[in-house]
This record gives sequence, C-alpha cells and structure tokens, in this order.
Amino acid sequence: MRGFKHLLCTLVLISLAAISQGTFAQGNLSKPKNIIILFADGTAGTQFEFGRYSSEKLRNQSFAVTDIVMGKGQIQIMRTESANAFVTDSAAAASAMSTGYKVNNGAISMTPDGSRPETLMEAAKANGKRIGLISTAPIYDASPAAFSVHAKNRRDSELIVNQYVDLAPEVLMGGGQDYFLPKANGGKRQDDKNIIEVFKGQGYQYINTPDQLETVQTSKMLGLFAVEDIDYEIDRDPKAMPSLAQMVSVGLRVLSTNTKQKSNAGFILFAENENTDSAGHQNDVAALMRDLWAFDDAVKVALEFQKKHSDTLIIVTGDHETGGFSPTYGRKNLGPASASNYLNVNLSQLKQIESFKISLNEFSERFKAKVKEGVSETVLDQYLTQLLKENYPGIDLDTDLRQKILTQSQLTPNYNYLPSNILAQAIARQTGFYWGTSGHTSEPVIVAAIGPGAQIFSGYGDNTDFARKLKRLFQGK
Ligand SMILES: [Zn+2]
Repeated sequence: MRGFKHLLCTLVLISLAAISQGTFAQGNLSKPKNIIILFADGTAGTQFEFGRYSSEKLRNQSFAVTDIVMGKGQIQIMRTESANAFVTDSAAAASAMSTGYKVNNGAISMTPDGSRPETLMEAAKANGKRIGLISTAPIYDASPAAFSVHAKNRRDSELIVNQYVDLAPEVLMGGGQDYFLPKANGGKRQDDKNIIEVFKGQGYQYINTPDQLETVQTSKMLGLFAVEDIDYEIDRDPKAMPSLAQMVSVGLRVLSTNTKQKSNAGFILFAENENTDSAGHQNDVAALMRDLWAFDDAVKVALEFQKKHSDTLIIVTGDHETGGFSPTYGRKNLGPASASNYLNVNLSQLKQIESFKISLNEFSERFKAKVKEGVSETVLDQYLTQLLKENYPGIDLDTDLRQKILTQSQLTPNYNYLPSNILAQAIARQTGFYWGTSGHTSEPVIVAAIGPGAQIFSGYGDNTDFARKLKRLFQGK
C-alpha cells in the first residue's frame, strides 16, 4: 500500500497521544450495560476521511464517525491478517473480532483444527444480554454470522440461518429472505422449511417493508427487506427498503424496551453497512460516498440513544479495507506537466461525483442486459454512450477503456468486477479517485469507541484483541 508510510506516521502520533493521556491505565474499568457495534465493512481510515471531507463539503454536515466517535472518544489501530493469509476476507476478520481466534479465509468462527470458539453473541447471551444483528447484506452474510454462530464455510447459508433460530437474537434485520424461505415460496432452502414461520411461532413479529418498522411492538423481531442485499444508498427506493439508520433506530428501541427480564442486563447490537465493502469491490466512489453518509446517519442515531442511556458504549469499526482506495492528484493525461494538465481533488470533483445517478453495479446490470439481447456492436456502443450521458454527467471514455467495456474484458488480473471496474477507471482519470484493486487490502483498520469502557481501545493491536476486550467488558474478567 502506497498509503502505509502515512499510516505509520499516524500510528506513532496516535500511540504518543494515548501514552500522554494515560489511556493504557486499565484500573477502574467502567463497564457499559449496552454495547452498540457499528460496522462499516471494507472501511479503513481512507474511506472515513473521504466520508468526512465529502460530508463537510457537499452536505454541510459534520461526520460523526471522525468528529465525535474518533475525535472525542478513543481510537485503536487494528491489524487484520487471517490464519492463512495476509489479506483477510470478511468471514475470517469478523471471526477473529468475535472469538479472539484466527481462522482461515472463508470460515465462520471455526478454527483450522475444527474447533468452535465462543462467539461474541453467544457470550453475550450466556451473560443474560439481549442481542441484535442488523446488516444491509443478507443477515446470514459473513460478518453478522461470524459474530454469532459457526460454519466451515461462509456459503453455508442455510446452516447459518438454522443456528440463528437456536441462538434467538431478539433483533434480526437486513436482507436475505432467500435462505429463510423454501423453494415453493421463492426461496433457496433445500429442506423446504419456512424459517420465517418458525420465528413467528417463537413470538417474533415479522416485517418486510420500511412502513412496518414503526409498528413493531413485540420484544423480539425479524425484519427481512430484500431477497438478497439491501440496495446501495444511491439506488435504494426508500418505500421498498429501509436505511441503516432506520433499522438501527428500531433495533435500539426493541432491545432497550419491551423486556420482561427481571434483571435487565442490557444488550449488544451489531449493525453493519455491507455496501461500503461492495462499493469498494466495484470501485464505485459515488456509491461509497452515499453509503458512508448513510453509515454516519446510523452512528448519529446511536449517539442520540447514548445521550439518553449514558451506560452505553458505542464502537465504530470495520473489518478490512476494500479496493485500495486512493484519492490522489496528478496529471490529467499523458501530456507534459503544466498547470492546465494537473488535477487536484476538490469541490468540483466532489460535485461531479454527487451528480452520478446510479451505482456502477446498476450500470453493469443494465449494460449486461443489453449485451444479452444480442444487439450489434454499433447499437451497444450507442447504448453505452446514452447510459453514460444519462447517469454519469461529464464522464467520457478514453478509447482503451471504451473497448474494454464493450468487450467486458479486464484491465489487469485483480480487477474482477466488469464492466464496473473499467468505468471506475474512467471516473478515476477525471476525478482523481483511484483504486488499487477490486479486492481487499492489508491496510490496518480503525476501532473508535466512545462511552464507558472506551479507554481499553488504544494503541496498535490485533483483531483478535477486539473480542477479548469486549468480553472483558461484560464478563468481568
Ligand atoms: Zn469484501
């Protein structure tokens, strides 16, 4: 990573600051009753900085992640390697953060020798806490799954859903109807069970539209708002699918009220925006920006909750960086160095990005649908021009990139999302928002925490420390 040198400087500064504030002192650890983990998948420091800068410049709003949780709370830098790779996937990263043990890429809280160390949510339940899982991904996806249950492979979706029935989180919200429904009801389950009905039979209120969120009255709820993923914020129809902030708001209400438990031990809520990771894979700067704002809106909901419930710890973090995101400056083209041939990233580039109307994924879907129609190359070329004109104002394709899109071929072997990654390259050349890969990277991530117990997050550590620290906060060890 070219940005690593900058990061090292940041690390040194952060460590010095931590020492000078005495944040390594672990005596008198105050323990929170409630813990809210806000999880931006695929998001490290570069993404959060982009969220802050774009939010200030385009929304005229402060960015709560950086300005409040990082600025007024504590931060830790966290390394992310898995048991078998320097660059982790989401399953291995979340497993380490949940159990305190390294697993191989693709495994869900199951170590290479087949053992199943206790997950964070299992430990929380064992300690009498209510638990919640929210994601814009299918709710059985790698991150929420690894924080809760066990599977050899992250693709064992049916098995993961079955374990949710046994674990019985009081709040389950996100996408992923497909592995809750039998084939007869349009689902993908092999065993013909209807798991939505199973949850209803156990006293859960089931909802599947944003309108129904306000109707939730029960102490346990299941909300599934999409067959698979909830759409990117840039594409989302608010009548069909809720925002992360809406889900977090209702999730907090359900977890903090309606409880009949005699001793109220509080709750742990895990709430994830998966679209920040997907945008990284697609190299989609416009979708990333909107989803970082949507994530921040959810952080603001959590901070409002904390104002009324001061015994709540809020943690903001991610699992790894996605895309090798690199906003940079440079020459506009291969011509000579000159003032007119130089690009700085500033408000005008941001405004252009803000004007984009659809995600690169949606662009790809539409383009591929046209290809499937079997139209001639000329018609396809005209369609591409029209798609760009309507949805990406001011973005032109250099000849090399136009050819790559028309033939849906890769630029280099590590740009696998086509044709999204090619259009992303055109956007990079004109706006300065470059990407180094369509995969994950080894960049360390940031853990930011504010509230009781936040002081234990400081300095530099491994992602397995995250689990141990959290368990210490509610197990008294
Ligand atoms: Zn990913």
